[in-house]
Amino acid sequence: MIGENLKTVEAEICSSCRRASRNRDEVTLIAVSKTMPVSMLKEAYAEGVRDFGENKVQELMDKIPQLPADVRWHMIGHLQRNKVKYIVDKVSLIHSVDSLRLAEEISQEASKKGITANILIEVNVAGEESKFGTTVEEACSLVESIAKLPAISVKGLMTIAPYTESPEDNRHYFHRLKQLSVDIQQKNIDNVNMATLSMGMTRDFPVAIEEGATYVRIGTGIFGERDYQ
Ligand SMILES: *Cc1c(COP(=O)(O)O)cnc(C)c1O
Repeated sequence: MIGENLKTVEAEICSSCRRASRNRDEVTLIAVSKTMPVSMLKEAYAEGVRDFGENKVQELMDKIPQLPADVRWHMIGHLQRNKVKYIVDKVSLIHSVDSLRLAEEISQEASKKGITANILIEVNVAGEESKFGTTVEEACSLVESIAKLPAISVKGLMTIAPYTESPEDNRHYFHRLKQLSVDIQQKNIDNVNMATLSMGMTRDFPVAIEEGATYVRIGTGIFGERDYQ
């Protein structure tokens, strides 16, 4: 089932890229494996998936040693400062940085471990109260402050779009995140690169790709519905 789902998703990624005149290799698929058993991650790995997204620190720590070392792990969920130390040197990208305090903690722990932590700034583009993320208005000054910290490198922006009836309803949010990244890039802030845009999930990733996503985060579309019991 996972193999077939991956083929379907891959075909959709390809046709979105074509519609947007983009190269397929500009978009990386992250298989969002939260709540899924390791056996399913291994199945996806066997199909060629190397990027996996998780949203809980404990689950990441359990799963990481059980998969091959060439997996790139993405922390896509809200991250508490006291848990940064457990994962900062084990994930290739933290997508969900939305405060200077969290960035300071990441910077400190990365320094201790002698690495540079790659991060994205999470932006709550739709201004939903239930969501984490900085506001569009504050994003640029947050990036400027974080850029001054050692051992941390800002690679771009991430957003979780609202749950909408139609994926088209999210197009302007994706467009806005892309525009924001261009605006920030134009400021030429040292240590900041806005090349990465993490946006689009199972319901709306084709639209996100058309609007410039470089990472799409797909869970249900690959692994099926999650059971949270
Ligand atoms: C769960 C999750 C996803 C994947 O959602 P699907 O709708 O299952 O594709 C993507 N991004 C984040 C941040 C998530 O928490």
